Amino acid sequence: MRRVAVHDIGHYIAGGAGETEAARYGDVFDPNSGKVQKRVALGTAADLDRAVAAAEAAQPAWAAVNPQRRARVMFKFKELVEANMEELAHTLASEHGKVIADARGDLMRGLDVIEFCCGIPHAMKGEFTHGAGPGIDVWSMRQPLGIGAGITPFNFPAMIPMWMFGVAIAVGNAFILKPSERDPSVPVRLAELMREAGLPEGILQVVHGDKEMVDAILDHPAIAAVSFVGSSDIAHYVYSRGVAAGKRVQAMGGAKNHGIVMPDADLDQVVNDLSGAAFGSAGERCMALPVVVPVGEETAERLRAKLIPAINALRVGVSTDPEAHYGPVINAAHKAKVENYIQMGVDEGAELVVDGRGFTLQGHEKGFFVGPTLFDRVTTKMKTYQEEIFGPVLQIVRAHDFEEALRLPSEHQYGNGVAIFTRNGHAAREFAARVNVGMVGINVPIPVPVAYHTFGGWKRSAFGDTNQHGMEGVKFWTKVKTVTGRWPDGSASGDNAFVIPTMG
Ligand code: NAD
Repeated sequence: MRRVAVHDIGHYIAGGAGETEAARYGDVFDPNSGKVQKRVALGTAADLDRAVAAAEAAQPAWAAVNPQRRARVMFKFKELVEANMEELAHTLASEHGKVIADARGDLMRGLDVIEFCCGIPHAMKGEFTHGAGPGIDVWSMRQPLGIGAGITPFNFPAMIPMWMFGVAIAVGNAFILKPSERDPSVPVRLAELMREAGLPEGILQVVHGDKEMVDAILDHPAIAAVSFVGSSDIAHYVYSRGVAAGKRVQAMGGAKNHGIVMPDADLDQVVNDLSGAAFGSAGERCMALPVVVPVGEETAERLRAKLIPAINALRVGVSTDPEAHYGPVINAAHKAKVENYIQMGVDEGAELVVDGRGFTLQGHEKGFFVGPTLFDRVTTKMKTYQEEIFGPVLQIVRAHDFEEALRLPSEHQYGNGVAIFTRNGHAAREFAARVNVGMVGINVPIPVPVAYHTFGGWKRSAFGDTNQHGMEGVKFWTKVKTVTGRWPDGSASGDNAFVIPTMG
């Protein structure tokens, strides 16, 4: 084991930062400049073994701490994140490329889940039946699983780790986080702040890496549960391999969210909402709205006419530009992927209305910027419709009527989020009830549920039965024990008699 070089990012194991057994490193870019700014250790099974040993040593005592004391660590952690907000937001933005306001949002949405965890004593209360039989009471209690692990994507390097470790730790588990190797600094800072908040050593650890580390986690016999968020193919792989190894697994995948625009919708509001929901964070959100479905030709024409100037007015800039609507995408490979999708859309016969390819920002010519892009007359047969692009690209798919609009998201392979824009309560109600998608917004473009509800998509957007955070999160990170106790009155006879078995 050795310490990583200055400016390189090592694991956070057993309360110590910077160590690794790794021989391999991954580059961490500043997407604004296109330059490598740090390297991250790509860890090995031996690194994971050290983290698991520390977790095993620490977890029983942490599980025995009463829940209100565990909640106090969450309160303190929330204060520390708030006190360090600007430093965290700037580090996050410099590795991810999102603008500072979005980086703060990433942290704030994570803190929402930490606030939920401050109430964990209430969420962990079991059920009780008095007098289920003569002298008999039955109760259930929630107990932690032991050691849990989380594997997270690049696009929310603060929020998604907090979704997972907040709940997992609050209920009494030890947790090992494998963040995205593309923006790994903030997850390590969060672990340090949890320690500063009073969390014992070994309860929250961070191991870095790629497939080698993910496989080590999935195969490790001491890890009881794995929570994953990332793209669908990897989510399916993680789910299958983790379940085959006997673990509890939840694996959230990709998305292609639709926004249905009914003829009676407030189009100014819709265009305003779409500017943020389709292009914010360069479209690199699993709850982005990359597909808009106007109902009827007349709605489509009116919407298109309002969208074009709004898109042309979007300002693309560096993360620290307070006027910028969005920044660069994560890396050069992703920029090329998004631009290839734009070409594919043209080749497939969609109408390219605004072309974001070849965009360069003066003074930042090597940054990974993609201009905002709009396609019209996209059809369900096109690959660019069927697949997730994950960039600043909005596609208009025209629908004849409500039923066709309802079918589009319902029949798509992904089922993360969907929104309907309308002033008609009946249409909205009908849509919410019938659409085959996990999270629905009514005049809400990004329907991310609040922390005390629960987050999770359907179809290829999530594998496993239990969602993130809220009571579903508590269920995922605990197992239920049910106790049947009998305390008969020793003096009674008949049904209440307490007969002590005797020998002979
Ligand atoms: P990704 O699938 O490339 O990576 C996610 C994690 O998996 C990372 O930690 C990565 O190191 C690991 N990984 C990558 N390749 C692997 C492999 N071959 N084997 C094992 N592990 C591997 O995803 P990303 O590009 O970091 O994130 C973007 C994706 O995440 C998008 O598809 C987006 O929709 C999705 N996402 C989904 C949600 C949700 O809640 N449904 C939320 C955020 C992001």
